[in-house]
Amino acid sequence: MERKKKILAVVGTRADAVKMCPLINELRGREELSVSVCSTGQHRELLNSVLDIFGVIPDYSLDIMAEGQDLFDITVRLLSALRGLLEDEAPDAVMVHGDTATAFSAALAAFYKRIPVCHVEAGLRTYDLSSPFPEEFYRQAIGLLASYHFAPTEAARGNLLSEGVAEECVFVTGNTVVDALAETVGRSGSIGNSLFDFASEGRLILLTAHRRENQGDAMRNIFSAVLRILEEYEDVRVIYPVHPSPAVRLVAEEFFSGHPRVRLCEPLGTLEFHRLLSLCYLTLTDSGGVQEEAVSLCRPALVIRNTTERTEGVLSGGIRLVGVGEGSVYRGIRALLDSPSLYYAMTRGASPFGSGGASEKIADIMEKII
Ligand code: UDP
Repeated sequence: MERKKKILAVVGTRADAVKMCPLINELRGREELSVSVCSTGQHRELLNSVLDIFGVIPDYSLDIMAEGQDLFDITVRLLSALRGLLEDEAPDAVMVHGDTATAFSAALAAFYKRIPVCHVEAGLRTYDLSSPFPEEFYRQAIGLLASYHFAPTEAARGNLLSEGVAEECVFVTGNTVVDALAETVGRSGSIGNSLFDFASEGRLILLTAHRRENQGDAMRNIFSAVLRILEEYEDVRVIYPVHPSPAVRLVAEEFFSGHPRVRLCEPLGTLEFHRLLSLCYLTLTDSGGVQEEAVSLCRPALVIRNTTERTEGVLSGGIRLVGVGEGSVYRGIRALLDSPSLYYAMTRGASPFGSGGASEKIADIMEKII
């Protein structure tokens, strides 16, 4: 009897895990495949809570984080820890997701060991290495190293083909985020939280802002714009789960602490977050995953960045770039609060990220190619 093909799935951040867990569970149901999961612990607590939701128990936990470390430390630690793991495990393929330090390091380690790399959520591009930083570099570099590319949309496939990736190695599958939402949004109804009472008393802006390139002046501009909106619209409320990074937390507290219509909180569990996202009036976000989730839940996403790699969301109308200037962010939110027709236009389109089943499609393909 032929032995099962071994896949090593490597996850490191909350965002990776949300989109990889439905796929890991799908692959685990396939008889021909054996799947091990390595958690690098790049975002340990945030990551573990997502793994719990999906019932994924890592086979390996690298636990690479240390106090005060930067991108150099993370990359070095990841590479050396993954080297040992690849030697012990000897998988037939390594599967990574998206554009994190974990995904890049695991892809590079597999490449050094000549193990095929399968890249989930491949082909997203801004073609601006400074935005998002360093993620744009990571995703382009993984694109160069990977043997198989699972592109969520035709636009992502187009990017890969224009970079010279062979057509037969690129598969358009939809985005596994839709599979994740199908599990979380349905389940989260039973979760009680005082935030939901607060949220339901007016029009809710769900704010997430943490990207490195937004820290500093851009973040202050964004927060000033939100304060102006709160002054002018008494029915608007803001919930902001604040990223643990001190560069974000201190500024968030300076602007919003004590405001009666703003709730600053710790990062929310993904069930709570998805539920709030499904209830909010709009989300103001610099996150990649939240853009896709909002559009998939028919909530408008105003993106506080100058570029987005989710261009199909902009084309479908669900995502609008509002930049990082105080005036442009203010005008962007105002337009959506004032204009029912704009609001309708942003919430009526079909999601360009697919209607679910991406995990199943990827697993079907994996059974054939590995
Ligand atoms: N998220 C969460 N709790 C929060 C904020 C976000 O669980 O308080 C989830 C969100 O649903 C999405 C992911 O975290 O799935 C996005 O993570 P992040 O913004 O860190 O990364 P990006 O998507 O930009 O890579």
